[in-house]
Amino acid sequence: MDNVKINVLSDEVIGKISAGEVVERPASVVKELVENSIDAGADSIEIEVQDAGQSLIRVADNGGGMEPEDAKLACRRHSTSKISEIDDLDNIRTLGFRGEALSSIAAVSQMDLISCAQPGASGVYVYLENGEILKIRPAGRVRGTTIEARNLFYNVPARRKFLKKESTELAEIVNMIGRFIISHPGIEFKLTQGERCLLHAPKDMHAIERIQLVLGGDISRGMVDLSCSDENYTITGYISRPSNTRKDKRAQVFFVNGRFVRSKVLSDAVYDAYRSMVERSRYPGAVLFLEVSPREVDVNVHPTKLQVKFRDERAVKNAVTGTIKKRFEELKQTAPGPQTSGTMSSDGFARANTSVETEAPEVPVFTGFSEVQNEFSYGKDLAAGSGGSVSAEGKGPAPRPAGAFFQLGGCYIVQIKPEGITITDPHAAHERILYEFFSKATENAPAEVQNLLFPVRIDLSAGESVIMEKTMESFRVLGFHIEPFGEKSFIVQAAPAILEDRDVKRVLYDVLTDLASCDLARVDLDDELVKLTSCRAAVKAGDVLSGREMSSLLDQLARCDLPFTCPHGRPVTLDITVDELEKRFRRK
Ligand code: ADP
Ligand code: MG
Repeated sequence: MDNVKINVLSDEVIGKISAGEVVERPASVVKELVENSIDAGADSIEIEVQDAGQSLIRVADNGGGMEPEDAKLACRRHSTSKISEIDDLDNIRTLGFRGEALSSIAAVSQMDLISCAQPGASGVYVYLENGEILKIRPAGRVRGTTIEARNLFYNVPARRKFLKKESTELAEIVNMIGRFIISHPGIEFKLTQGERCLLHAPKDMHAIERIQLVLGGDISRGMVDLSCSDENYTITGYISRPSNTRKDKRAQVFFVNGRFVRSKVLSDAVYDAYRSMVERSRYPGAVLFLEVSPREVDVNVHPTKLQVKFRDERAVKNAVTGTIKKRFEELKQTAPGPQTSGTMSSDGFARANTSVETEAPEVPVFTGFSEVQNEFSYGKDLAAGSGGSVSAEGKGPAPRPAGAFFQLGGCYIVQIKPEGITITDPHAAHERILYEFFSKATENAPAEVQNLLFPVRIDLSAGESVIMEKTMESFRVLGFHIEPFGEKSFIVQAAPAILEDRDVKRVLYDVLTDLASCDLARVDLDDELVKLTSCRAAVKAGDVLSGREMSSLLDQLARCDLPFTCPHGRPVTLDITVDELEKRFRRK
């Protein structure tokens, strides 16, 4: 420690370090620039990117603009027009306030800015590199601001290396703009990459149409609107019906005082409200806007402002859970149709499900009262049962004799043979079967394909459809014939024959969701797709199987090359031999 030398860092280094906190990736630049446009009062914002934002991000708005002197100042660190004193932090109503974004972006890109504050007056053009103003001159522009960031991280190669594959970064930008589209219904947003328009929400597009555009038609179909306020909170938004769920929480978006946040408090609140009505590990869609006094919430926890801290977490959670539950109560009260609560047959569940698939309301009202009611009366069974294949006789944990097999604990297939007992984990077994089947398909043994009698349409979010486009060819190799059908919809014409009685739509959704959360740059896409599809298409651990299904599963397993473990290495079968029984009974 003798030779320790303390260096005072240069402004340039300090600038790049703090830029790293605000500007992690292209989507964060997009976020900061769009927030500035919103803060400037724009009602039309155009975003253009090239190479998923790495070579160009341009954001143009028709907001209040900047005077030439302000434009110069705005690019300095910690310069903001939005707060001036510490007390202002308690009263923030704008999205920005830290005065860090423009200087951070300028520190890690080649940035230019054209702005004009007065209609008819001359605007200003500023060009910066390494955070320094290299050019400044008058420029013509109508009122508003255009900011371009080129060659992001050109001077921070380490950060450039950390960027994910282009499609991942682009999906992130699309998701980011999607949230603004939902949270700012009065503003027109247009996102393009080259010639291609990725998202466009005109000014007059209704809130629910915006949600459909962003989250995808399926999860937003039949959403229920919500609105409740008391002296502390105003909660508004849309929530999906208990039968319309996803495998992850991606269709849950929360805004606090107009700002998108990730919040465990809020997602737990939603979970609690739906607790007894949805299957385990499935999540409803929810778009919630919470308005609270800025004093009740701290958004300054992290430079990206994605996290919030509520002063009274429990009160917020109760308010949200209570609002959702109350809404469901109202719907139950006003529901027309037979009051058969508690006495529905499992058929009621099936009907509820199919109606979700077929109806397509254009208006933002809830149209399926009786279904919610059925879902309510069925909630308990669903929670305890097994998911897709709940059937009247299959709910209890009692073993179901089915020829030589039965299911133990609602899950394991037990086979009793003269030489012992074989116990098979149906999910692991099916996963192994499918894994070998799809692996062979990728090795030049084309999968046997079955045309669907009724082609299935899937409506995806903008982010998911970017991934779908990239993976469509790989899906085809596995036997899924998928074609684009308009902007963000796809049609599945054919599916692998081996998935005969599986829910193809759900499988595809689940696989896409998995793909969205993995780093596509670091995995072998085809291999990953084989693994994910095998896992998602396999019967679930708690699915109730018929005797025929059990016997076919065991037959197919016997024909596998490696029937002993699932692709993750977990055991598929377990044998208890007579020999072992004899030892256990201490006969040997
Ligand atoms: P913050 O948003 O936290 O104030 P920024 O670095 O993002 O900090 O922006 C600095 C200042 O530049 C803002 O306070 C605002 O006055 C001005 N500014 C930035 N972008 C725009 C824009 N699109 N239109 C008008 N003014 C802008
Ligand atoms: Mg800002």
